[in-house]
Amino acid sequence: MNSIEQALTEALAIGRQYVDQGECASYIPELSRADKHALGVCVMTASTDRYAAGDTKTRFSIQSISKVITLAVALQHCGFEKVFEKMNMEPSGDPFNSLVKLDLTDDKPFNPMINAGAITTAGYLEPDVSFEDLLAYSRRVCLDEGIEIDERVYESEKNHCARNRAIAYLLQSKGILTGDVEKSLDLYIRMCSLGVTAESLAGLGLVLANGGLHPQTGNRLMDADVVRVVKTIMLTCGMYDESGEFAVRVGVPSKSGVGGGILSVVEKRMGIGIYGPALDKKGNSIGGRHMLEYLSQALGLHMFGTGEA
Ligand code: GLN
Repeated sequence: MNSIEQALTEALAIGRQYVDQGECASYIPELSRADKHALGVCVMTASTDRYAAGDTKTRFSIQSISKVITLAVALQHCGFEKVFEKMNMEPSGDPFNSLVKLDLTDDKPFNPMINAGAITTAGYLEPDVSFEDLLAYSRRVCLDEGIEIDERVYESEKNHCARNRAIAYLLQSKGILTGDVEKSLDLYIRMCSLGVTAESLAGLGLVLANGGLHPQTGNRLMDADVVRVVKTIMLTCGMYDESGEFAVRVGVPSKSGVGGGILSVVEKRMGIGIYGPALDKKGNSIGGRHMLEYLSQALGLHMFGTGEA
């Protein structure tokens, strides 16, 4: 066993100790059907070697991790100035589906990694970029041609999206969403319903770690400046209101979703994908978070080093 394989095996054993303390998301009813004990981690290195432990081939919905893809496409399509004209780039410190600050503190969404921000991003794209375009692009950047929309999750969320609908109409009332509110919301929900695996997330992580280049062909999938913005926002805002502590403990730009996924990017070295649908109170995979903390130490992944002199 090499050191990565061994570290993944150990990480899995550590992560499994925590899953009983978490719960699957249930506010989207279909998500509550997941096996709360499922757990897996996949690493794809810059030399495109793949390492996996646990449930890395199970499909689950990407949920908030799609915010990374939608942001990248919006930056490519509209440019930095336009994207951040109506949206900030600050951590909100509030739950991902909160609308409190949007109404009381600032008229702009705090960042593109929370629901208000991602619905705004979907609104930028909605008239010009179709869901089919986004699906095709998601397959390319995740190195996974098998990605499809999970229709059951889509229907389930569509029928239980009162809060996101409230956010969308609040955005409209503030002049942030200027197009068709229902179509923008629908695009957001479709993107959240993409079925991925821990392997697909490791693939996306590797593309981001590689500055936007396909790791095998060298083809450019995302502009380098777009990748830089996306990774920075993942570091500061990607783990919701747990982003600060996560950055200290793990030190790797990451994005989680309530389907149980975590996408992590280790600059120039590897992409990491995680599946573990038991979530902590903030909505992050509880086993996944502990696996990443272990891997960060075992493999020296923290972006600011080991902390030793
Ligand atoms: N689709 C989910 C929602 O809008 C995504 C949230 C998440 O993964 N944190 O609530």
